[in-house]
Amino acid sequence: MNRCRVLLLNAALGPLDYRVPAGMEVAPGSIVLAPLGPRQMTGVVWEPERLEAESVGDNRLRPLLQAYDLPPLAESLRRLIEWTADYYLAPLASVLRMALASASALEGGRTVTEYRATGFVPERLTPQRAQALERIGERQGLVRELAIAASVSDGVIRGLVKAGAIEAVEVSVDDPFPLPDPDHGPPELELAQGAAAQVFVEAVRAAEFAPFLLDGVTGSGKTEVYFEAVAEALRLGRQTLVLLPEIALTEPFLKRFAARFGHDQVAWHSGLRQSQRRRAWRAIASGDARVVVGARSSLFLPYPRLGLIVVDEAHETSFKQEEGVPYHARDVAVMRAKLERIPIILASATPAIESRQMAEIGVYKEVKLPERYGVAELPEIEALDLTADPPPRGRWLAPRLVRELEETLERGEQALLFLNRRGYAPLTLCRHCGHRFQCPNCTAWMVEHRLVRRLACHHCGHMMPPPQACPECGEEGTLVPVGPGVERIADEVAALFPDARTAVVTSDTIWSPAKAAEFVGRMEAGEIDIVVGTQLVTKGYHFPNLTLVGVVDADLGLQGGDLRAGERTFQQIAQVAGRAGRGERPGRVLVQTHEPSAAVIEALVSGDSESFYAAETRSRREAAMPPFGRLAGIVISSEDLGEATEAAKSIGRAAPRVDNMAVFGPAPAPLAMLRGRHRQRLLVHAARSVDMQDVIRDWLGKLSWPRGVRVTVDVDPYSFL
Ligand code: ADP
Ligand code: ZN
Repeated sequence: MNRCRVLLLNAALGPLDYRVPAGMEVAPGSIVLAPLGPRQMTGVVWEPERLEAESVGDNRLRPLLQAYDLPPLAESLRRLIEWTADYYLAPLASVLRMALASASALEGGRTVTEYRATGFVPERLTPQRAQALERIGERQGLVRELAIAASVSDGVIRGLVKAGAIEAVEVSVDDPFPLPDPDHGPPELELAQGAAAQVFVEAVRAAEFAPFLLDGVTGSGKTEVYFEAVAEALRLGRQTLVLLPEIALTEPFLKRFAARFGHDQVAWHSGLRQSQRRRAWRAIASGDARVVVGARSSLFLPYPRLGLIVVDEAHETSFKQEEGVPYHARDVAVMRAKLERIPIILASATPAIESRQMAEIGVYKEVKLPERYGVAELPEIEALDLTADPPPRGRWLAPRLVRELEETLERGEQALLFLNRRGYAPLTLCRHCGHRFQCPNCTAWMVEHRLVRRLACHHCGHMMPPPQACPECGEEGTLVPVGPGVERIADEVAALFPDARTAVVTSDTIWSPAKAAEFVGRMEAGEIDIVVGTQLVTKGYHFPNLTLVGVVDADLGLQGGDLRAGERTFQQIAQVAGRAGRGERPGRVLVQTHEPSAAVIEALVSGDSESFYAAETRSRREAAMPPFGRLAGIVISSEDLGEATEAAKSIGRAAPRVDNMAVFGPAPAPLAMLRGRHRQRLLVHAARSVDMQDVIRDWLGKLSWPRGVRVTVDVDPYSFL
């Protein structure tokens, strides 16, 4: 009797045993199709000794339906999936799903029928059809994908196919990706760059676990340097994974990659069409895709010959996933490198305290690039005291910053204004009665977005048209915007410099890699004079003619007082400052603040980041905060306030007493309501010596709560809302 244990893609189910029918061969890692009641479900064969399952007699086992003709998931990946599920207290199936991220890729190579506009416009167009054609533009995809992009029904798209305005295209999902050439366009490295590259090249050759912290100032050539390691992996026929913090960065990155290696490579992110995702997955699993550039989810893909991982902008907190399995891609990447026995490079100009500490104690090897490439110098940073030199009433740019903008424009150079706030104004208020517009589903203000004429909640996406009259007192014309968002700054710029060409860069305007590429193109062609942007513009970009950066409100990130507020503010301003003066002309950075003597601002102005980090690290150590202690957040939510409060109380009462561990709360979360659910929060704080996950597993495992209650655990939290 041949039986096997299968981990199915269903988080509610434990592993199940199946019979392997005669003639079918499976081994741990094999991807299979199994019967489940009347349905079928994909799963992966697992070592039975590593997963407990209900014991079922041989005679009651159902046979597997199919073993896919795909390489089995490697042992290293199976161990990574187990480690991730264990560390983040997540169901194994939810982690496995990230490895098998394209269901359709499991089916053999086929062609897929996609659709695109022909350019022919039928004579009589319904408004729906007109809207569809306009929004589809150059897009290509499945009927469903086009319908979603155009916000119309599938029927409208099918109608347009019949009318000849949209045509079918056959797309092969097994077209090979071109092989990058490691010697296509290597740069001539400077001395320090060459030495750093050599260290990485040797580590790739050695093919052993070796974590590196590449700590180099903005513009020092970190990318050029780790490209040498990528080149070596290519020569050895091994795969490389480059993780980027933001999908908007993938297109510009691929362009740069193509200039160095002759061809661009495989991108992996949530914006891929189904056929692209399928093609990428198959090429990755077969080993044909040599270099993959991706968002955090690319970390779990089944690379058979991984030789190197790079985490670029490794300090970015967007590597922390907040939905689904709440994992930190930087940390899981290090674990993957360890299990694969390969080097990993964490590249950053402003490494996280967690990473610095690992370098400090010798776990990571630190490689430094202290100077900018070529003649470029680091920009001078200056604080503008808003109390001493305030902007005129109703304006946000101080006179000094306005003068500098003017001079920059006169010299034909580009400027960037940074404000980490989307929309026009973060709050709308009735001047007459004081009514504030709040989201009906969340503890949050409705943010005015003037470009699309809506008030929007940034937490749940709830939208409403801006009302004419106050819903509270009924007065008309009394609603006023309070505070600035990027759109309001752009208005101010337009009023000050009517001839300047401005661009607002936020996730509202740059919502796809293609949009990002378009923005980069316009910047490079000199078609934009002033960029007004959120954190989206702080990282990665290289615009040689950008010489002035203005930080509109440096105090913004310091409010709220979360554990990393100071560190994050430092990183954000240092990164955005790093966009200035990357070419031959020097850059200047003006930081508007009400507190020029705050430690963060002084560190930025003096350039003495070391003592700032030392002070931050010391206070974390004294408070036993990460990385010197451990944290976990537990959020209990329900649509019913009483139910949420009760459940939170009973979980709190059951908290175990463990040495060197404390449980705080429950208390209403700062975001006390989110998407219509009331939220209570507990915070677990433990010494590093405590197996915190084990304690929490035991604790919550013994309890039950009503069906409407959801309990989520966030290990190593980055958000404290
Ligand atoms: P970082 O990643 O550290 O911010 P980059 O790798 O983006 O730095 O380098 C900044 C700019 O300098 C890029 O345009 C890059 O191509 C260029 N550059 C860096 N090193 C070299 C080199 N050795 N030869 C030619 N150009 C270089
Ligand atoms: Zn909301």
